[in-house]
Amino acid sequence: MSDNYLLEKHNFKMQKKYGQNFLTDVRIPARIADGCTDFDVTDGKRADSLILEVGPGAGILTKELAKRFTKVLAVEIDEELIPVLADSLAGYDNITVINQDVMKVELAPLLAEHRNIDGKKLPVSVCANLPYYITTPVLMKLLEEYGEFSFITVMVQKEVARRLCAKPATDDYGAITAAIGLYGKATKLFDVSAGNFNPKPKVDSSVVKISLYEPAKYTPEQIEKTSKVIKAAFSMRRKTLVNTLVGLCAPGYDTKEKLSDLATEMFGKPTVRGEELSTEQFVALAQRLF
Ligand code: SAM
Repeated sequence: MSDNYLLEKHNFKMQKKYGQNFLTDVRIPARIADGCTDFDVTDGKRADSLILEVGPGAGILTKELAKRFTKVLAVEIDEELIPVLADSLAGYDNITVINQDVMKVELAPLLAEHRNIDGKKLPVSVCANLPYYITTPVLMKLLEEYGEFSFITVMVQKEVARRLCAKPATDDYGAITAAIGLYGKATKLFDVSAGNFNPKPKVDSSVVKISLYEPAKYTPEQIEKTSKVIKAAFSMRRKTLVNTLVGLCAPGYDTKEKLSDLATEMFGKPTVRGEELSTEQFVALAQRLF
């Protein structure tokens, strides 16, 4: 049954407030799901993993994930989609759908419950065509709240994808780029044009895969301190790093003079801007400040 037929059968109306732009061509979700796997799945083999999907919609990506991974756990906010998904996913026994707002879900207990199979703990990853209105909050929640994802593969607006994968000192580099570097490395997989969605959004999209460091590169304490510095550094983009950091009142670095000396010592000039620093440099700076 086509997803369109199912949406009509259940008299489903797309909700703009939930960022509902559904994929229409099955080849795209198949490519996204392929991008998550490190091996050829054409022989029917499934990767031994639990995949958390945020926003399954009518289930077009969910099915492709279920063909390639041991288990799929899909979290959908819109209760009107639950009967649609029950129909659409009826032939699959390795998918669980829960009707919740991903921003309100406590990930640790939920994933602990679903990643245990026969006493074995499955590796866990994320794959999603994210609703555009909450891309950054969802990504930050996933990264900050759960330290055990192997990868997070997401479709996002093309310009957001550019930001996620940007290099320091480029226009696209921002707080989210530096923050992601605390947890892993983001790579763009491919672009998807707006014509592949219903309704058609105004902008094109890209699929980005964040491979999380295993083992973690930074301690929770380093991440906490550095996140504070990154937030401050990008709070006023046009200001120099020194001007954005005075407000932090780090012990021993509470004046512009002291901060200017530190910036010169660490980065060669007092006028350095936050967008010029790599994640590693932010970590080193946070270590000195706190
Ligand atoms: N995965 C489907 C696809 O690719 O066709 C739908 C993707 S659509 C861009 C985003 C989906 O996320 C919608 O199904 C929407 O209802 C759901 N969604 C929006 N906000 C959500 C939230 N806070 N928690 C869980 N799901 C959410």
